[in-house]
Formats: sequence, structure tokens, C-alpha cells
Amino acid sequence: MAATTPACASAALVPSPGAAAARSRTGRASRLRASVPTMPPVGGAGSSGRARDAPRAAAAASPRSVGISGAPPDLSDASKRALRDEAIAWAAQRGLLVGTDGSDAGSAMCAHLTHAPFAVLPTPFPRDVFDLAADVSPAFAALSDAVSRDDAFLRECLRGVLETDDFTRRVWDVYESCGGQAGRVPVEAGVLRADYMLDAPSGAPLQVEVNTISTSFMALATRVSEMHDHLIRWAPGLEAHYYRGGARPSLDDDSDSDSDSDSDDDGSRSRAKKKTSVPSPLPRNGALALAADTLAAAHRAMGVPDARLLMLVQPGETNVMDQRLISRRLFERHGVRTTRATLKEVADRATIGEDAARLIHLDGASHSVAYFRAGYAPGDYPSEAEWAGRLLIERSGAAKSPSAAMHLAGCKKVQQTLAEPGVLERFVDDAETAAKMRGTFAAMRALDGADAAGAVAEALREPDRWVLKPQREGGGNNLYGADLAAALGAFDGDAKPGEEGNLSGYILMRRIFPPANRTLALRRGETSEMETLSELGVYVGYLRVGEEVVMNECGGHLLRTKAATSDEGGVAAGFAVLDSPLLVDE
Ligand code: ADP
Ligand code: MG
Repeated sequence: MAATTPACASAALVPSPGAAAARSRTGRASRLRASVPTMPPVGGAGSSGRARDAPRAAAAASPRSVGISGAPPDLSDASKRALRDEAIAWAAQRGLLVGTDGSDAGSAMCAHLTHAPFAVLPTPFPRDVFDLAADVSPAFAALSDAVSRDDAFLRECLRGVLETDDFTRRVWDVYESCGGQAGRVPVEAGVLRADYMLDAPSGAPLQVEVNTISTSFMALATRVSEMHDHLIRWAPGLEAHYYRGGARPSLDDDSDSDSDSDSDDDGSRSRAKKKTSVPSPLPRNGALALAADTLAAAHRAMGVPDARLLMLVQPGETNVMDQRLISRRLFERHGVRTTRATLKEVADRATIGEDAARLIHLDGASHSVAYFRAGYAPGDYPSEAEWAGRLLIERSGAAKSPSAAMHLAGCKKVQQTLAEPGVLERFVDDAETAAKMRGTFAAMRALDGADAAGAVAEALREPDRWVLKPQREGGGNNLYGADLAAALGAFDGDAKPGEEGNLSGYILMRRIFPPANRTLALRRGETSEMETLSELGVYVGYLRVGEEVVMNECGGHLLRTKAATSDEGGVAAGFAVLDSPLLVDE
């Protein structure tokens, strides 16, 4: 990053242009919902009056609410200013940045960057809930893989969706036209993220979704954890407030406390396993290392040392540092080089090798692993060229992260079907594990099949207690409250797939009401304090080679914190900020 250039220095204080170009995994919604107010201060203009605002939970009345141990201290305006300045400086020093000017020049690197939107200080989160989410998440990675390998299940489960949802249908066509299960390569790598919200009434972590494609923020989440540790130690009085009892985490044991150093700066997973006698309130975050190490393991499993990794990116991508920090670690630690390309660039310039390995050849190099940071949403396929690129990759002998089958296994329809009685249990032999997984399911209802009318009636009785979800990724697609009621009001049980009133492309999910907190958020150079809700993401690195699962581990996390008045949670979409959990024992 050109940190010293005037352009960049000013960019740090300049709002990104409508976040319009911020189109990482959660970014597409910035186009769809550009008018949604983002992170309003409490009591500010945007904090009330949105038609889509649902009641904000029982949250504030919850026992886990404001005032629990770990709540932020009262800070003077001068302290907040000092924290803001230090946070922006730290972000620049350590790459906690996003681009502001994603150009349309394909995969070309943007040149102007600003700090990522983040919470200045960590948000309290119950330790037992965090531990449970971390514990159960690898089982969900294995489940996604198992589902992806069951053609009959996928076919039956997605039948109604495939008849109504063109995008999912196209992904299915890619899967099927490449031979279905027979067309898959033996190496399947996943950098997954299971997302949870703490259900205030029950105290349980309830699953929002499992992301099997284009999960993001592994690098920036690691940086936010490190920054929080830094700021707590840096600002007078905060260490005593947050690290009571001497339980200071020393995250910089394994990160380069000297930011000029190129040594271990990624929350190394191996060292992350070091235990101190007192449990730390700031859990170590090895998400960046996990992502890079998983992809490197896939590269090794492919057995072509000179081959590169092909990272599929969106044109004009602005979440570039999150991606490039992974590439840097891939190169520094594993000697693996990355080629960045859009799906269109693949369609225009790539070929499949004619030898048995069938690797992807692009710009004079061969690629044994294709890692998708694009391709998860219809907007990523503005023309047939992008589909041709996707098809070429799927057809190749490269390992995919993920394959089309694994992409499909991440559909919300799959999640809803697994939650039906006995279905999850068909895939998970161990009863105890299955029970633990099922314990994280919120109630869900299908909108195809015999029960659809009953589900619609039930949700219409309490529209504020349900979320209506299409088969989409990236934030900004769900319907709540009045919008949900309007959509369900149009339901017609006799409508055929594709006809108006047929809702088989959607699922209903019980709305989760997490506890509220107070957050000092920093976005586009400006701090604001607000009442917030948080969503915990747990990253899992997964690698299967043939029948052997050689890696399935959780090694990092992400907390996304949004204004309590906002329904959606995307960071790049402008709804939320990156955050880290401060674990509290209750
Ligand atoms: P996407 O694939 O677009 O990320 P999600 O299912 O994660 O779809 O929903 C987007 C956001 O909507 C979540 O990050 C969360 O903030 C909110 N959300 C989703 N499901 C629920 C739910 N059941 N209860 C409350 N909020 C939800
Ligand atoms: Mg999500």
C-alpha cells in the first residue's frame, strides 16, 4: 500500500464511494441496498423509522445484555479521539485495510486504501458460547462435504429451488455437466465459515448459516483481534479494565509487534495452541494462517510443486488486503504463488492442460488449486463468459475450493432440510455429535412441499419473529417484518414453480434475537457509538483427499457487529463492522 502518498493519506479519511465497489463476499448488497443507512449513532437519524426495522429483541432486556463484565469503559472524548487516531495508524501499519477505488480493470490491484470498518474495542461474548461454536463447527464442515457427495440427496432437496431459481440452477448445471460426482477431483479443500448468533432467551449459539464459498475476512479478522489487543495495552487504563486478574493475552507473542518485521504476523495457529494458566479474554485468532495453510495443504496434495494457486476475484475487488495477506502467507510460508483472475479473464485466456493432470493454464503458468473469492452470486455472472470461466475451472483437474457440489451444499435450502427431523442424523453417525449440532439449529420451515401453506400461515401470525431467505449469498437478500409479510401474503399454494406465488426458492427461519451491546465503531474515519448486535463466525479449514479427511480444524473467528436497528449483517455491504469477541465468564 502506498501509505505515504498523499492520495492514500487522504483516502484514509475519505468515505469509500458508496462502498459500491466493496464487493467481497458480503459486498454485493451495497448495490442492492445502497440507500440503507449504515451504522447510525444511537438516537441518530437512521436509528428509527426504517420500514424494515423489526423489534430489536428482547435483547436489551436479556441477562447477557449491556453491563455484563467486559462492557466498554466510559471514555472521554479525548480518549476516543486518541483511540481513533491510533487505530487508523495501526490499521495502515498492519494491512487492516480495504480499497476505496476498485476499478473495473479486471483483477488489477486498486491503489487507494482506507482502514476497514471496525469496532475500536472488542465486544463481550460469553466464553461458553464461543467454545461451543468453535467445538461444533468442524462437524458442520464435514457435514457440508458429506452432503456435497450425496447426489440423490442434493437432487431431491434442491428440486423445488432448481425449478424456480435460475442462479442455483446454473451452478447445478455446472456440477452436472462436469459429470456430477464422477467428475469431481479427489482433492476437495474448504475454507468454510459457520455463522452463529447468540440467542438471548436460551443462551445458545444458533446457526445463521454455513458458508461454503468465498468466505472472507480471515485476514482482516485476525488483524482486528491483534489491533484490539494493541489498543487495550496502548490506551491508559484499558488494560486494567479488560484484562483484570492478569489474564492479558499477549497476542503479539506470535505476531510481529514490530510492524516492520516480516516474521510471523498472522496469529500463527501452531503457537495459537499455546496455553497460559489463566484463560485469555481475547482469544487468539489464527484465521489468516488457517486459510493459507488449508490452501497450501491442498496444493501439496495435488503434488505439483511448481503449480500456482488461482484465486478467482471479482473485477474491481476492494477487499484486496484480506485476499492478498493470504497470498503473502502462501508464498512466504509455503512457496506457493498466486495468480489473481476474474471469471471472465479465465474464460478469455485460460485453457485446460491436455495431459492427465488437466491443470488450468493461464498466462504461461499452470494452476493446481482454484480458490473462489468470487462466483457466489448472480451479479458475478453478468454474461455467459463468466459461466464459461466457471465451467472451465470445474472441468479441469485442479482442486476447487469449493467445487460446484460443495457450493450447492451451502444453499440455505440444504440447511433447512438438514434441520428436519432425522435428516441431519442420516449424515452424522455419532449421536452425541449430531445432538450437539442440532442444538444450534433455529427453527426452519420449507416453502415447498405439503407443509408450505402451514408455514406461511405460521409466519404471517408473527412476521417479526421470522426471516424469509432466498438462495442467495452476500447479504442484503433476506426479508423481514413488513417485507416478509408482503412476500408471504402473495403465496399461492397452487402456483407452479416459476409462477407468481410459488415460494419454493425460499426458506423461513426463526428470527434470532441476540443480546445488545454498546460499540465504539470506526467507519470511514469517523467514530460513532451505538447499540449493537453481534454475529460470530467460526472458520474451519477442511481438506479431503479421496476418502481421507486430512484436515478439519477450526482455527479462527470473526465477530461482525451491526447497529441493533439493522436487520442485515454484511461488513462490505455497509451494515456491520469487523469486531472481535472479549470472552466473559458468566
Ligand atoms: P447471507 O448469505 O446473505 O450472508 P445470511 O443467512 O447470513 O445470508 O443472512 C444475512 C444476515 O441477516 C445475517 O448476517 C444476519 O445479520 C441476518 N440474519 C440471517 N438470519 C437471521 C436470523 N435467523 N435471525 C436474525 N438475523 C438473521
Ligand atoms: Mg451470512
